[in-house]
Amino acid sequence: MSYVQYSIEKILDLCAIPSPTGFTQKALKYLIEEFKKLGFSYTVTNKNSLLVDLGHGETNALMLVAHVDTLGAMVKTIKSNGRLSISRIGSYPFNLIENENCIIHTREGKEYTGTIYLTKPSVHVYKDVGKLERNEENIEVVLDQKVFSEEDVKDLGISPGDYISFDPRTILTKTGFIKSRHLDDKAGVGILLGLAKAIRDYTTEPKRKIYMMFTSYEEVGHGAASSIPEEVTEIVSVDMGAVGEGLNSNVYSVSICAKDSGGPYDYEIVSKLIKAANLSQVSYTVDVYPFYGSDVESSLFAGHDIKHGLVGPGVYASHGYERTHIDAIEATLKLLQTFVEMD
Ligand SMILES: [Zn+2]
Repeated sequence: MSYVQYSIEKILDLCAIPSPTGFTQKALKYLIEEFKKLGFSYTVTNKNSLLVDLGHGETNALMLVAHVDTLGAMVKTIKSNGRLSISRIGSYPFNLIENENCIIHTREGKEYTGTIYLTKPSVHVYKDVGKLERNEENIEVVLDQKVFSEEDVKDLGISPGDYISFDPRTILTKTGFIKSRHLDDKAGVGILLGLAKAIRDYTTEPKRKIYMMFTSYEEVGHGAASSIPEEVTEIVSVDMGAVGEGLNSNVYSVSICAKDSGGPYDYEIVSKLIKAANLSQVSYTVDVYPFYGSDVESSLFAGHDIKHGLVGPGVYASHGYERTHIDAIEATLKLLQTFVEMD
C-alpha cells in the first residue's frame, strides 16, 4: 500500500471516531495504536496532546502539529418538551449543522442518536421557515427516543454538559473526492501518519530530530500552547488550507499559508515550504487566509520562541460539509516528505 493510500485509509477511520474538542480520548487511543504498530515512542500530556518522538538528529528539532479535535456541541439544557438546547464547541454558524444527525454521549458512556432541527422545521406548518434566524434559541436536538418531558430525557441518563458529535457523513468517491464534516483536521492527522510510516520505512530520512504532536483543543484556540520539547526550534501546523473567493488554494493542491488572522508566518519557514513544494514537484499554492488561526499560533501566544509555518490540503466548505481530493492529500504528504529531509 502506498503512503498516500495509507493516509487516506487513516483519514476515513479517524473521521468515523467522534472527537469534539476535549472529548478526543477514542481518537487518541486509535492514534496510539497506530504509532505502537509503527514502533515510535510517545507520551500523552495532561491536556491530552499526543507527543510522538520520531527520532533522527539530536538538535534543532522540528515539530509537526495536527489536531484530532473537531467541531461539536454540548447539551445546554433539557427542555420541558424533551428536546435539547445546545451550546457550540468551536466556531461555526448554526445553519451549518441544521438537519444534521448527531450522537449524544452521556458521562456513563451511553450513546443516543438524534437530529439537530430548527424549532420550527416544517414548511407545511410554519410560514417563515426560510427566514427564521439560525441561532441558539431556534435550534434544538430531537432525540430518536419516545420522550415527552425533561424527566423522560433525564431517565435516559442525558444531562447538561454531555457531548454531542455530528454525523461526519464521510464519503470517498470513485473520482477521488473525500467528503466529510471533519477533514479539518483529520486529513492533517492522516497525512502525518503517512509521513511517520515513510520515516519508519527509511523512505524518508530526516537529518533533524522530528516530533509530531496531536492536539485536543485546537478548535478553541489553545491546542499546542504547552508541552513543546525544549530542543524544538521550528513548528509547522499541518492543517486544512482555506479555499474560496479571493484565495488561490484549491482541493487538488497543497496550500502554504503565508499569513492568517494571527499575522504572517515565519518568512524562512514559508520560503522553505515553497522550496520543498518545488523540489517535490507537487501542485501548490501560497495563500493568505482571512479568518483563520492555527495550533502553532497558540504556541507563539503561549510564549514559545519558535519559527512557525502552516501547510495543508485545500479544503472546500470548511467547518461545514468539507471536501477535498486525494491529489491534495498526496501533494501535502510529498511536500512534507521533502521538507523533513531539508536542514
Ligand atoms: Zn483545523
